[in-house]
Amino acid sequence: MRLALHLLQQPKESVEEFTTSIGKMRQKIQFCKEGHNISDDDKCSICNNASRDKSTICIVESIRDIMAIEDTAHYRGLYHILGGVISPIEGIGPSDLNVSTLIERAGRAETKEIIMALSPTIEGDTTIFYLSKQLQAHDVKVSTIARGVSFGGELQYADEVTLGRSISARIPYGK
Ligand SMILES: [Zn+2]
Repeated sequence: MRLALHLLQQPKESVEEFTTSIGKMRQKIQFCKEGHNISDDDKCSICNNASRDKSTICIVESIRDIMAIEDTAHYRGLYHILGGVISPIEGIGPSDLNVSTLIERAGRAETKEIIMALSPTIEGDTTIFYLSKQLQAHDVKVSTIARGVSFGGELQYADEVTLGRSISARIPYGK
């Protein structure tokens, strides 16, 4: 309602420009075939960036988490968007998430480390446990971000300092 009322106050031409832009965005934006990030190409700007460290993949739940981690400027590797976490209560299982593409990436010779940057919740922990089991067959180091982020909170709402430290001081998981 607020958006509708605001648009009614604007000149017709600028509203038309706005709607055309929105339409173009929806048509052109696709998902990166590597890490499922939003992209206007086959691969996103992070995967296509030659200066990024291709040996490290950071697993996150959503695009917002990538934005939050990028804001810290503490991370130079690649990302993999899971699309959520395993939640039996909400009926979300591994097959609903981008797991198979992750396993495929983990199997590549260039991949050395996988960082789990999931929300510190029961569902996040369950997902980390499940993924670490799936990744055991591959020769990759699995780490989780340090628990500077409060338990029960959501990653996208953590402040930059806490989130940045969590990435820098990540710890090995399980082994
Ligand atoms: Zn990508």
